[in-house]
Amino acid sequence: MAVIIFDFDGTIADTLAAIAEIANRLAPLFGFSPAGPEKIKFFQTLSTQQLLQQSEISVFKLPFLLRRVKTELRREIQQLNLIPGVRDALIALSNEGHTLGIVTSNSADNVHLFLKKHDLADLFSFIHTGTALFGKSKVLKQVLRRNQLNADQVLYIGDETRDIEAAQKIPIRVVAVSWGFNSHQVLMSKKPDFLIDHPNELMQIVTQLEGVKCSR
Ligand SMILES: [Mg+2]
Repeated sequence: MAVIIFDFDGTIADTLAAIAEIANRLAPLFGFSPAGPEKIKFFQTLSTQQLLQQSEISVFKLPFLLRRVKTELRREIQQLNLIPGVRDALIALSNEGHTLGIVTSNSADNVHLFLKKHDLADLFSFIHTGTALFGKSKVLKQVLRRNQLNADQVLYIGDETRDIEAAQKIPIRVVAVSWGFNSHQVLMSKKPDFLIDHPNELMQIVTQLEGVKCSR
């Protein structure tokens, strides 16, 4: 494996509760109803497209809402936690000589502040931020092209159905993680190459893929 690319929110950073709270605070301003815990649980069982259809948010207002959420998140990003187990997994992968990167729709400010706070910035060789909600496949493709990588040298790790779809569009292998926003079940329905429930399963997958390559 040459390059392991991570999503940020919900995959590395435990930002989802904070984002939900901010979105609820902004709800009146953007014309949708705030979601309680039950509604949020339901939203997690939906694909990204289904969620947008159900959410009452106008597609025209959506980019403005997302931008506003990221601006508000900047105030609290340094107080937010890493997903338990992610630090060890990242360090182990890096120690094995794998290249790590991030491709995220969140802002550069938020990602850099968070990584610095948790002393993880040095682990990542590249960080692409501000990707459009459905624009990750374009950015992933650019990473492949710019670094002259073959699809089988790259692995994408993400917590949402749109992450799986972005990887499948290229196609590159994708690991869906159930510790973030989307439920295990809806992730499964999108048929990722791997679906894991704990960060310590990552190393096993990477080692397994390396083995496949060596035996060819
Ligand atoms: Mg995410």
